[in-house]
Amino acid sequence: MTHKTPPRKLYWMIAVLLLLFVCFLTAMVQCLKLPPNGEAVTVISADASPHAHTPEEPTPEPSLSPVQTPSPTPFPTAEPKELLVSSIPDDPYPELYGDNPNQEFDVSEEYTIYLTFDDGPSGSTPALLDVLREECVPATFFILEDKYPEILRQAYKDGHTLGVHSDSHTYQYVYWNMESFLADFSRSYHNIWSATGYRPRIFRFPGGSVNSYNRHLIWDLVTEMEGRGFVYHDWNVTSEDASSAKTYEEQLEALLKYSEKKTRIIALMHDTDKNPWIADLVREYIHIMKDRGYRFEALSSRVEPIHFTMPTP
Ligand SMILES: [Zn+2]
Repeated sequence: MTHKTPPRKLYWMIAVLLLLFVCFLTAMVQCLKLPPNGEAVTVISADASPHAHTPEEPTPEPSLSPVQTPSPTPFPTAEPKELLVSSIPDDPYPELYGDNPNQEFDVSEEYTIYLTFDDGPSGSTPALLDVLREECVPATFFILEDKYPEILRQAYKDGHTLGVHSDSHTYQYVYWNMESFLADFSRSYHNIWSATGYRPRIFRFPGGSVNSYNRHLIWDLVTEMEGRGFVYHDWNVTSEDASSAKTYEEQLEALLKYSEKKTRIIALMHDTDKNPWIADLVREYIHIMKDRGYRFEALSSRVEPIHFTMPTP
């Protein structure tokens, strides 16, 4: 009896069937791993780029991602502001708006002094805050430095007004054109906002509103910033600590000289490290002026400002 050998073709068919069976089993195992709703879990890594997905893949929902990218908004409590006036096309600073677009001011009482301190905070500021607290005197700080956010927060907690001054304080840059002014202003504004959560409403031009660096631009700047609802404050009394008065005695003398016969005073001083005695100076000035019947208030966007005389446009 001869044993008939199966044809080679049959072996190939069995092999192919086995292979198909293994593939089928593998597919079944994969199906059993899916979640109950049958959707595949998409995991997005933090640095996943759009190119990681083929065009056929649906865009994954952010809620499916185990890694949520932090919101890029670094500032608290953005209050939407109605756009007022901007001369800048496609305004790059839509958040830069104050709250006094109609420039309406409260009537000030006479014999009122608004102490203002520019270019701080500094190492001199904590002692100054102590004196203001002891004397129950609110004041106004036009901010330059972003090195001392804790001091800035303390000044705000103490009830003082914070205003924008500058970020660079470089006159040639600040007054180069409208864009450079707004860029510098925006950085200072955001420094205050991010340190305190407070959005400033008032500002002081570096060098005052009228100076030799901005004559080509000042009308446009005023129109732009008042259109945005900000109020700027110059001064009518100064300690001359940024110019001729270098000592405690000279600065007190200047303050008292300019204060003569004025019933409404916005006094300029600088709380920088160049003025280590500013706390004592302010205490003495407060005592003298209280004896003369003056009261002290902080500036705001509702306080009628003192402005320098503008040049002819
Ligand atoms: Zn300044």
